[in-house]
Amino acid sequence: MTVRLRPHHLLCLLTYVGKGYTPAFVDNYDRIARRLSEGEGIVVVDGPDDVCAALLCAPDAHCFRDSVRVRDAQAAADVGELLDMTVSAGARIDLHPALLARMRKAFAEGVTRKACLGCEWSALCSGVAACGYAEVRVRAVAEVCLGI
Ligand code: SF4
Repeated sequence: MTVRLRPHHLLCLLTYVGKGYTPAFVDNYDRIARRLSEGEGIVVVDGPDDVCAALLCAPDAHCFRDSVRVRDAQAAADVGELLDMTVSAGARIDLHPALLARMRKAFAEGVTRKACLGCEWSALCSGVAACGYAEVRVRAVAEVCLGI
């Protein structure tokens, strides 16, 4: 199995601390965080993904908005440049410790934050990064095993 993620969620997963739009959204995200932390791989998708799934029954779900697609495009460009790969539908990513560390560092330094412009969670995510990602729920397998 793989976790289906749209490009900007490659950034959001770095700072997920159990906060979100609704209790159902958080429950779903917690399940995804567990799967990723147990080593399940990621496949990039175009448009609504496994994280969005808990919101899609709402008639005004923001997941379909053009502004979210713009966020995806920016994240795909920045993460792709960082990881030296093309981040587009079908791309596969494994969150091994070195890769996660690289993504966290780039995010904390603002290298991959252009996609966050205008996001209502930006202050929270900046704070999580500034605190060294201490409370995040998506961890690499080695971090989980070591209890970091
Ligand atoms: S600021 Fe928004 S887009 Fe950026 S990582 Fe946080 S939740 Fe995701």
